[in-house]
Amino acid sequence: MSSSLSYYFNEEHESFRQTIRQFLQAEAIPNIDQWEADGKIPREFWKKFGEMGYFGLCYPEEFGGSNLDFFYNVVMCEEISKVFSGGFTITAAVQSFMSTPYIMKHGSDYLKENYLKPAIAGEKIGCIGITEPGAGSDAANIQTRAKKEGDYYIVNGSKTFITNGIYGQFVILVCKTNPEAGAAGVSLLVLDLDAEGVSKNKLKKLGWHASDTAELHFDNVKVPVKNLLGEEGKGFYYLMGGLQLERLSAGIMGYASCESIVEYSLKYMNERSAFGRTINKFQVLRHRVAQLAAEIECIKIFTLQTCKMHEQGKYVVKECSMVKLIATELADKVMYQCLQFFGGYGYMEEYKVARAFRDSRIGTIGGGSSEIMREIIAKMVIDDIGYERAESTVERPVHTVESIFATLPSRFKTEKAAGKNLNIHFSFTNNNYTVNIADGKLNVENGLQGTADCLVETDDETYIAVETGKLNPQEAFMTGKIKVSDLMQMMAFGGLFKKL
Ligand SMILES: Cc1cc2nc3c(=O)[nH]c(=O)nc-3n(C[C@H](O)[C@H](O)[C@H](O)COP(=O)(O)OP(=O)(O)OC[C@H]3O[C@@H](n4cnc5c(N)ncnc54)[C@H](O)[C@@H]3O)c2cc1C
Repeated sequence: MSSSLSYYFNEEHESFRQTIRQFLQAEAIPNIDQWEADGKIPREFWKKFGEMGYFGLCYPEEFGGSNLDFFYNVVMCEEISKVFSGGFTITAAVQSFMSTPYIMKHGSDYLKENYLKPAIAGEKIGCIGITEPGAGSDAANIQTRAKKEGDYYIVNGSKTFITNGIYGQFVILVCKTNPEAGAAGVSLLVLDLDAEGVSKNKLKKLGWHASDTAELHFDNVKVPVKNLLGEEGKGFYYLMGGLQLERLSAGIMGYASCESIVEYSLKYMNERSAFGRTINKFQVLRHRVAQLAAEIECIKIFTLQTCKMHEQGKYVVKECSMVKLIATELADKVMYQCLQFFGGYGYMEEYKVARAFRDSRIGTIGGGSSEIMREIIAKMVIDDIGYERAESTVERPVHTVESIFATLPSRFKTEKAAGKNLNIHFSFTNNNYTVNIADGKLNVENGLQGTADCLVETDDETYIAVETGKLNPQEAFMTGKIKVSDLMQMMAFGGLFKKL
């Protein structure tokens, strides 16, 4: 272990690494090709994985976990990323980093007993259902609806691209319990995938062949109210918090898979000859390897440093976004260049680099695309927008148009709105909203709906600055930063809301 790494990993971590490596050598690696061909990893394998304690490394003992520090999870994630099957890696990563953490953080005793415990034991496999056919990056715009009726929510809608959705047992479903409230109407439910009214369609895809990816449809699915995670309406904020760990794990998977493919390539380059010498003697190839090694090492140390901050409880949105962006883009580059070292053999299924090349392509798309990562980073480094944890278990972004609009219902002065009818259109950089007030009731919708009494046009930054008191509204109007078609109507509208 290099001295820089010993800062993050101690001897116990390294001895754990040897144990899980041996387990994967014995139980997973000999079967990977078959699982890739089958498009499925047998349940028995995950039970063994659970019995070994690998799903519960950092969870409390009362749920079957081992209560270890976060770097055990880092070691586990590194090792599952080195078996040359992204489909294998992601199945375990979704369970450990993208679904069960929501139950641990926001779930009731009932949910922990019935879903977290069996998941840690490897008896139940979970997934996270955010993406819909019509909403991926724009997660607040999901349409899946959960309507409360007595002791149940009745769920209708569709999700797509859901990893573990075919063979998994439950989904952390992101849905709207109050569609009028925008992001503040989003809730998380734990939904059994064998419930009546759930239908599934297995999707064919470019890579990740060992993993199942589902399209899920919900037709009047009854979900007990006790399966709600945390509080109604806080799902979007829970999600924002949870996505940081997902992005961090994407970074670990990124650099670890790069390390293993470089090692694999170096062996080949040491054996393959051309023009009377092994190809690892050609300077152009040596420099390429050196460049890749340098870049991998840089992102690895930055990712580990972000893991350290995450472990210390810091809310590292900027760093997690940077880790995800750089590590997944680097993985694409590394796989592409390593395949080149193999010449024609690299294009053959027989060589692991072909699969690695296919599997890495999703890294820059899933869990927040590179474009979305750049958006988050740009807002933080250019516009000085901060993201902070709202409460111990509730995390929320501050100062985004979406989050400000989500607060409108709670700031609405119902008593002042009696008898008022107003339809206000807001046109922002990326989104449009309609805020309608009729007979004392408030309704917020995406898009520009109906005839506007007033059209407000501005960019996100100006609106946020005005709402948060950083920019005087008069100044914004005078300088043309905000254009308002009817100032009187706008002032009447503004008077119906408490300040942020
Ligand atoms: C194999 C696989 C597994 C997946 N697993 C899961 C899962 O388990 N659970 C789950 O919920 N989802 C999952 N996803 C979905 C994944 O997270 C989404 O595909 C991703 O968030 C992008 O959403 P989209 O596909 O709807 O693309 P869109 O949001 O339609 O984006 C299309 C393009 O536009 C760009 N774009 C969008 N908005 C902006 C913007 N504001 N600025 C600049 N560019 C923008 C995007 O970056 C992208 O390039 C999976 C996807 C795949 C392919």
